Amino acid sequence: MKSARILAGILTATAAVSIVSFAGGAQVPAAHGPADLVIYKAKVHTVDPSRPEAQALAIVGDRIRAVGSEDEIRAWIAPGTSVLDAHGGTVLPGFNDSHVHFVDGSSLLSQVHLADATTREEFTRRVAAYAKGLQKSQWVLGGNWDHEKFPGATMPTREWIDVVTPDNPAWLDRYDGHMGLANTAALKLAGVDRNTPDPPGGTILRDAEGNPTGALKDAAAGLVERVIPPPSEEQLTRAIRAGLEEARRVGLTSVQDISHAPEMRVYQKLLAAGELTARFYCITPIQGYEAPLHAGITAGFGNDWIRTGALKGFADGSLGSTTALFFEPYNDAPGTRGLFNAMMLPEGHMLQMAQPADAAGLQIAIHAIGDRAIHEILTMYEEIARRNGPPRSLGPARGRRWRIEHVQHLLASDYDAFARLGVIASMQPYHAIDDGRWAEKRIGHERAKSSYAWRSLLDHGAKLAFGTDWPVAPLNPLLGLYAAVTRATLDGRHPEGWIPEQKITLAEAIEAYTLGSAYAEFTETQKGSLTPGKLADVVILDADLFRIPPEKIKEVKVVKTIAGGRIVYSAD
Ligand SMILES: [Zn+2]
Repeated sequence: MKSARILAGILTATAAVSIVSFAGGAQVPAAHGPADLVIYKAKVHTVDPSRPEAQALAIVGDRIRAVGSEDEIRAWIAPGTSVLDAHGGTVLPGFNDSHVHFVDGSSLLSQVHLADATTREEFTRRVAAYAKGLQKSQWVLGGNWDHEKFPGATMPTREWIDVVTPDNPAWLDRYDGHMGLANTAALKLAGVDRNTPDPPGGTILRDAEGNPTGALKDAAAGLVERVIPPPSEEQLTRAIRAGLEEARRVGLTSVQDISHAPEMRVYQKLLAAGELTARFYCITPIQGYEAPLHAGITAGFGNDWIRTGALKGFADGSLGSTTALFFEPYNDAPGTRGLFNAMMLPEGHMLQMAQPADAAGLQIAIHAIGDRAIHEILTMYEEIARRNGPPRSLGPARGRRWRIEHVQHLLASDYDAFARLGVIASMQPYHAIDDGRWAEKRIGHERAKSSYAWRSLLDHGAKLAFGTDWPVAPLNPLLGLYAAVTRATLDGRHPEGWIPEQKITLAEAIEAYTLGSAYAEFTETQKGSLTPGKLADVVILDADLFRIPPEKIKEVKVVKTIAGGRIVYSAD
């Protein structure tokens, strides 16, 4: 319908023939109707090498139609055109977060917030305040706590919260999602006591008497998580609406979501209602690979707003929980090298799921953080290529685009494999300035040198896609850009950058957060740069990013977010 309207506009435009400069600077006559929206007085950074910089752009319907100088774009303005003055601010393609847990993040907006709790007292006080608003037996959920922030890095125990949650079970996630704290009521509902053995791939933390402390690592978290009642569709919809509002506020027009069936239904419902303001690439659990396979779904299946066809698996845990898997022991825990995720066991189990999925044209994205986990997945991809042969062709833009999620601490000898096998490094720059506070305590300086190795990966020809892992890190992409170009840890101890040789340029970081992420979801011909013909997903910032000192990037705010030609967010 939209294209019919545009076509009609072109046909009825009265002598709207003007000279428009297209990419490469060639002057070509173009007949066109007026733009619906023009942005001018902008520092347009296009992420399109054929025209990297511009001052204005014109949007018709949901597409970018022209990018150029103010003189060139003036011809697109007619009485019906909305004109936005960017006041010299940077204009970028809408950000695309390549790894979010959208429902977790969205739900947290209305749950207990412990991300900035730094003492036991504060932890308890916040849980108490939240529990007060609940009915008896309703779950206390949320968390995002980080014990590294507590005095002496004390691990919280159920005693911290039992007194304030006598009538409510509680489950509070550690910020990395690899550990959680249950209160006594929750342990009771889950049937976890001193006689419960550690499940494979998980640990029940215990006190000196052998009783569970309430903290459960990796697979052990599942013991409690499976007794938490799922949210109703109404609760889920309410949470996702709040998440979309947050995404608009920070300039995100696309997210790649670690999704499950209930929220995918809600995304479709919100799309039908005209409420979806970010495009979703839904990455579903690899354990369920047979469902899309039998339905004939391949990577990137869907429409401009909702796509799927990617599968997420886990190779290991996290550095913070000492479960990321390394070849050598942890420096501060010499008894362990980390853990394989349960999906990797027994040996070859992941391959048994990934190989048929790949053969069917589905995309594989595996979480791997420690050097051994990353190496194992690269080896598995190589094995799949050997067994399955060339990728199933689905047209010129398609192919096999394997991903590894996080890629935090890799062997320098594995840089090449990313480019050689075409594996996308889907990484979260904010984690580097967060974990960088204490990572060397865990893995030492030598291993840190190839941690968050953006520079080395790019120099070896690997493709980067940037995101946050929200709610593990804040959703705001500007914090990610700041982290990528400064590597300045949150504790202020590395103002020149933690492992500064791995910094990348602002232009490279922006590309990873836009075109790189689009590539990771097979949509680089539709979005990721401000190129005529692509979807009009645009963000206007309140500063000229390339002119301000790098440390100021984290303070930059989004002024407007435009998704599919529609202004979906305006500051104040
Ligand atoms: Zn994640």
